[in-house]
Amino acid sequence: MSASPVRSTVDFGAPGKHYGHLYVPYSYNLGGWANLMVPVCVIARGTGPTALVLAGNHGDEYPGQIAVMRLLRELDETQVNGRLILIPTLTMPGAKAATRLSPLDGKNFNRCFPGNPVGAPSEVLAHYLSSVLFPLADIVIDIHTGGRSLDFEPCAHMHLVPNGPQRSAMLAGTEAWNTDFCFLYADIAGTGLLPVEAENQGKIVITTEMGGSENVTATVHAQTQMGLRNVLKHFGILPGVAVTRELLGLGPTRWVQALSWDDYRFAPESGVYENLVPLGENVDAGQPVGAIHFLERPDRVPVQVFAHTAGVLIATRAPSVVAQGDCVACVAHDVDPRSLP
Ligand SMILES: [Zn+2]
Repeated sequence: MSASPVRSTVDFGAPGKHYGHLYVPYSYNLGGWANLMVPVCVIARGTGPTALVLAGNHGDEYPGQIAVMRLLRELDETQVNGRLILIPTLTMPGAKAATRLSPLDGKNFNRCFPGNPVGAPSEVLAHYLSSVLFPLADIVIDIHTGGRSLDFEPCAHMHLVPNGPQRSAMLAGTEAWNTDFCFLYADIAGTGLLPVEAENQGKIVITTEMGGSENVTATVHAQTQMGLRNVLKHFGILPGVAVTRELLGLGPTRWVQALSWDDYRFAPESGVYENLVPLGENVDAGQPVGAIHFLERPDRVPVQVFAHTAGVLIATRAPSVVAQGDCVACVAHDVDPRSLP
């Protein structure tokens, strides 16, 4: 694969704190030699591990973007053992427009990996991450939410990579978010995900779904900011001892998984969706979790969406208007954490 056309104005090998941009070249009708400018900050001291901390992979997911911007402003090299590479907003055009996909090229950044150095801007940036930034990192943190389309019970989540040191480190790092739920998920909507590429390169990959929908509560922002700092303490990059749920006076995290396609429920028809079960509540097999109403046919009986199997409602549809095929619910199942390492 050819070299990346992306230019960085920061030197990833230099000690100290350096702020700049990744310049991703592209053209549009009023900009023949334009660049998509992606803010980046490197904070480095000593020989500790490198964490690549990412947010705004999907533009309309803001708690992580705010948490990473805050770290970028508040930290300096005296507080870092090793190296932090901070990118608060990967999909800048989407974040500005409050869209999941980049309006610049219509791409879902989290389906662009490993990327293409001669492709659309999102693919060029994905290739730069795959070929330049992932090789620099020991730990890759990618902070998501459900965006505008889904509301999630705030959780750290991960793929169940093959057993071994990588999986063990990912399990411990995922738990260090101290969320009520930790979630093992499956890729039910395509390939080309950022975490999969980072996992394939052997990185310790820590990801989240910190809530979702348009309204981000103060609680979710606080959980995101505290969780991120705690994970960086857990890996020894920030000073101090990482707190555990026990130290916080909380019960153990509840590990759940949704690895079957049937755990993800889709709208069978277009209409207006009614959530029937509160987020985070247990459901029985066959229990209706939602109902689709038909504005033009109020005489029609609403079509119900059912949980296939018993579990916990970990995510629900956020906007009321649904199109046929939209994911409207995800039912996750308890898993014994002792069975995972
Ligand atoms: Zn996302």
